[in-house]
Amino acid sequence: MTFCATIRSASRARAYCSPASPPSPASQPSPPSPPSSSSPASRGRRLAASAVVLLALAPLAGCSATAVDRPLIVVTTNILGDVVERVVGDEAEVMTLMQPNADPHSFQISAREAARMLDADLLVSNGLGLEEGLQRNLDAATGEGVPAFVAGDHVETLAYTAGDAAGTADPHLWTDPTRMLDVVDALSATIQDVMAGQVDVEAVQANADDYATELWALDAEMANAFDVIPAERRNLVTNHHVFGYLAERYDFEVIGAVIPSGTTLAAPSASDLASLVTAIERAGVSTIFADSSQPDRLVQVLADEAGIDVAVVDLFTESLSAEGEGAETYLDMMRANTERIATGLSP
Ligand SMILES: [Zn+2]
Repeated sequence: MTFCATIRSASRARAYCSPASPPSPASQPSPPSPPSSSSPASRGRRLAASAVVLLALAPLAGCSATAVDRPLIVVTTNILGDVVERVVGDEAEVMTLMQPNADPHSFQISAREAARMLDADLLVSNGLGLEEGLQRNLDAATGEGVPAFVAGDHVETLAYTAGDAAGTADPHLWTDPTRMLDVVDALSATIQDVMAGQVDVEAVQANADDYATELWALDAEMANAFDVIPAERRNLVTNHHVFGYLAERYDFEVIGAVIPSGTTLAAPSASDLASLVTAIERAGVSTIFADSSQPDRLVQVLADEAGIDVAVVDLFTESLSAEGEGAETYLDMMRANTERIATGLSP
């Protein structure tokens, strides 16, 4: 005899079939066990014991058709969330922690989201110090044995060359789609390895191959679009240092950043702004780029009060947008930025 049980928490549903009886924690809730083990079985028990539980016995005939126990992948940034969804397809549930138009350096999560990180079958983060507001939670989850994939571990990193972060690795690796290709390759292999038996590995590989084809096409599209910008105008000034990888890939020079740092959490001094104005004038920069999700007050101050004649153009530098705002996916975001950079810097 087979029972089908569906356990629902406020934010996640799991269903599974048992050859004998429904699991006892669901019918007789007990205190959560200490999170000392990361095995799927123990994580399932913790979920069952701590969730607001609704136990439903489904009709036996519907069991195999309706009971889908998909593994859970928890992802920090929404850019990586989109990439993970493309690679894993329907084979796993993907929970993205960062909201649209948020700041990856500073966003934080609720206690409930932190608890769900501990239930993940895989935790995907950008790394290289990007998720400053979340590092404590990431460390706690990996300390509990949750398998982790850190994108920054799988690309050739660049170090910042200027500002207060000089010498440290730049985490903004997604601005170069060929770096994202390296991430996709490694992510696909990790999912197939960590979730062997839980996912259709051939389906995951096929998804990764399809997405890689789209990333190569994006790379070609970007190079082609930037061809209209003459060499002497290929100068980038941004909100903070976010386009180092794009600059390396497509031959731009990063002149400076309004916040002379690799993080939005720093602040510029008056002398920082004065030296940036000098650099902008020396390079003949015509357009500077702000971030659509950041207050552009500093950029406007620079443009309006420093006596320089530059246009300010918003880009989606480090977060996807909400629906209908033009950067719902990583590919959309990169295409929107490419078009705005090419237009902004063209003669
Ligand atoms: Zn940043």
